[in-house]
Parts: sequence; structure tokens; C-alpha cells
Amino acid sequence: MAKGILIVVSAPAGCGKDTILEQALKADPNLYYSVSATSRAMRPGETDGVSYYFKTRDEFKRMIAEGELLEYTEYVGNYYGTPKKAVNDMLEAGKDVILKIEIEGAANVKKMFPGCTMVFILPPSFAELERRLHKRGTETDEVIKQRLETARKELQYAENYDYLITNAALEDAVDDFLAVVRAEKCRRENREGVVGDLLAE
Ligand code: 5GP
Repeated sequence: MAKGILIVVSAPAGCGKDTILEQALKADPNLYYSVSATSRAMRPGETDGVSYYFKTRDEFKRMIAEGELLEYTEYVGNYYGTPKKAVNDMLEAGKDVILKIEIEGAANVKKMFPGCTMVFILPPSFAELERRLHKRGTETDEVIKQRLETARKELQYAENYDYLITNAALEDAVDDFLAVVRAEKCRRENREGVVGDLLAE
């Protein structure tokens, strides 16, 4: 069986990456979402083992020491990392694996898996991003200002990515994401052995 493809997704906060991925996962049963480990506190509405594997800093350090993580980073004071085994097992089983990680981790994954697909989600405009962050109502004006500044910095890394998806309308962004996955699966590099198998018939 052909191996699955590895898809790395990054986006500044408020660009709607969680919703896009939720919808894409519902639409394409061959997609597998890699649940990360983190040392940050659980937020309301999150579930351990679904949103993240929530760990203490010591537990996280043990995972690093035991080589259990494919990559990890410290982001705004907390550890975040991708468990290695699940990703490898799923790729071997032919599943297409999504890593939703920040830019530094994404760059590290690209070094380890040069053939991975890198997707960056963009907001339609900064004005709209600001409006969405205010609408969420979970952050103060000061935090929103910081998030917008961080978003500007993060956007400079978009040039390291293969695909840029603008989330102006959710359904279109989901379609774009699914189209990227579909096209990438047809790449010759991702279809190893297919011609040989045909000729061996
Ligand atoms: P949040 O705390 O808002 O859930 O996530 C903060 C940032 O950490 C997001 O950009 C998210 O994509 C990123 N992140 C989540 N899991 C991982 C991971 O396993 N590795 C890396 N490098 N970043 C992650």
C-alpha cells in the first residue's frame, strides 16, 4: 500500500485554521490529525487526548529525553511537540497526516521530511483578522494588539510554504485545502511503484 503524505499547516492566531481542519477531517476520512503534546494549561472546551495530550513540564521533558517527539518547540512559554510514533504508524498505514504546528516546528519537519507539503493559512486582511479576534471576545485589546503584531511577523515566513490558502470564506478555504491534499496525492513522488505495478500485471 502507498504511504500517506505528511501535511504541515501553520497560521497566525485567528485565521481559522482549527475550523478549516475540522471540516476537512470530516470531509476526507483518509486524513489523520496528529494530536500534539503540550505543557500549557487546558482551555475551556478542550479535551485531553483530543485537543492535545496535556503534560506537566517534567512529563514533557521526559518525552524529549526518551526521543518520543518528532519535533518540539517552546512557544510563548509552553512546550509543544509532535509525538513521533503515531505519525510514523499512520503514514505507514497509508493515512495522510496533518501536523498543525507553528513556523519553527514546521521548518524542522521540512528538514526531516523534505517531501512534506507545507500549507500556510492567511487572513483576508489585517482589518478582518482584527475584527475576528475582537468577535471571539476572549482577549483584551492589548492581547489582540500583540497577536496582530505576531501575525505580521509570522506572515514573513509564508514564503517557506508550498501553498497559501486565504481564509476569506470558510467553505472555499476548506475546498482549497482538500484540493491541495488531492493534488499532492497525485504527485509522482507520492505514487511510488504505481507504474511498476501496472507493468507487472
Ligand atoms: P495554542 O496554544 O493556541 O493551541 O497553540 C499555539 C501554537 O502552537 C499554534 O501555532 C499551534 O499550531 C502550535 N503548535 C501546536 N502543537 C504543536 C506542536 O506539536 N509542535 C509545534 N512546533 N507547534 C505546535
